[in-house]
Order: sequence, then C-alpha cells, then structure tokens
Amino acid sequence: MDIPRIFNISESAHRIHNPFTPEKFATLGNVLRMEPGTRVIDLGSGSGEMLCTWARDFGITGIGIDMSQLFSTQAKKRAEELGVAGSVDFIHNDATGYVADEKCDVAACVGATWIGGGVTGTIELLTKSLKPNGIILIGEPWWRQLPPTEEIAKSCGATSISDFLTLPEFVSSFDKLGYDIVEMVLADQEGWDRYEAAKWLTMRRWLEANPNDDFAKEVRTQLTIWPERHVTYTREYLGWGVFALMAR
Ligand code: SAH
Repeated sequence: MDIPRIFNISESAHRIHNPFTPEKFATLGNVLRMEPGTRVIDLGSGSGEMLCTWARDFGITGIGIDMSQLFSTQAKKRAEELGVAGSVDFIHNDATGYVADEKCDVAACVGATWIGGGVTGTIELLTKSLKPNGIILIGEPWWRQLPPTEEIAKSCGATSISDFLTLPEFVSSFDKLGYDIVEMVLADQEGWDRYEAAKWLTMRRWLEANPNDDFAKEVRTQLTIWPERHVTYTREYLGWGVFALMAR
C-alpha cells in the first residue's frame, strides 16, 4: 500500500508536504494555545513535521497516520531526531475511516481531505476521534482568483473549478456546517514556492541517480513542465490555509 510514486520521488526531501513553512506551523501551534499533554491526531501526517515540532515546542502528544511508506519512515526518524519519539507515534496506513482509540483534543487533516471524501466528510471523520469542544484542523486550498476556464483549474492541479471555493465562500461554508472558525493561518506565495520549487532540485537529482529507471521519463516530463506551470497558475490562482473549527 502506498501513494503514487511521483510524490514519493518529488517530495522525498520535503519535511512539509504543503505550502506551509516551519514558521507557519509554529504560528498555528502558538495561536491554538497548545499546552503540554494536548493530544493531537493527524490524518495524512506526511513526514510528521507538524506533530514532531509541536511535541518539541509545546509538549503535545499525538498520532499520525499516512499512506506513504517513505514519509511514515521519515516521520519516525524526525521524531527520534527531535527527541520526541516517546510522545508521537506514526502509523503507515490508509487513514480512510480511521478513528483514534483515545479521543483527542485536536483532530487534524492538513492537505489530505480526500481521505474523508472532501472537507465535509473529513470533518465528520475527524469528529469521531475528537473530545467534546475539541478543535478540528482542516488544511485546504482555496481560489485566490477564480480560474476563468476549467483548463486553467486543471493546470493548477485541480480536477475542476468546483474542487475549491474562494476564501469568503470557504469561510461561510463552515458556518453553514454549524462550525465556528476559531482561528486560521494562511499560506502565502513564498510558501507555495517552498512546496513546489523544492520538488525541482529533488527531481533533477533523482534523474541523475536513476537514468535507467522505468519512471525516469515521467519524472523528466514533470520536471520540464512544473516550473512554468507553477509560476503561471498555482502560485497565482491558489491560496491555501489551515482553518481551526469548533462545533457550535
Ligand atoms: N499533512 C502533511 C502531509 C500533506 S500531503 C504535511 O502537512 O506535511 C498529503 C499526505 O496525505 C501525503 O503525506 C500522503 O502520503 C498522504 N495520503 C494520501 N492518501 C492517504 C490516505 N488514504 N491515507 C493516509 N494518508 C494519505
């Protein structure tokens, strides 16, 4: 069981697999007023940077579930490196339908809401692991500018314009679901560069090391296309952020 290989290659050197920077995750932990012992579950935890740094900086405990074998291994290593392996646990698994044994203070899905079939389904899933009055964290893109055509939406990596909302629409969608937005931290274009541009050198180095791999042609194609696509579309049209929600 694993995610498509292109991600395991292009994001193999990433600590954070979305447009957030270490500073943004630190801000998020601070504004949520994390305290020692706060229990956090993270579905699609990637290489574990959020849980590991929050364990180091705020003394949280947590569990992360991720379907990438590589990212899960990296998460465990990172926990050891930061001296928090006793506080955070990483499980390599499909997080679809995953519910924690022990209820959590914070339940997060940061950039992987397909796990619950979309934002609404992911909120429902996370709620099953959450204590009453706990906080749900959703990390998700939104349109900075509405793409004028479906083709442009596809060039941003979406399947359709309807995949995402504008920021005001997205914020009011939580209201309609019966949630208070109690905090939000938004990524910026610099964050998008850290996420997207950081793939390019990784892919280039991978190509040099693996010229005869069956997958080299695919990686070569992506490395040729992605930089221009990023500056023309993703960077301009897509916003991203983490939204903290509490049920009314
Ligand atoms: N939250 C992390 C990773 C976001 S990228 C971070 O902020 O860095 C999306 C992650 O979802 C990837 O790590 C990918 O491996 C994982 N993923 C994709 N499908 C999944 C599934 N069905 N179950 C668990 N993890 C999944």
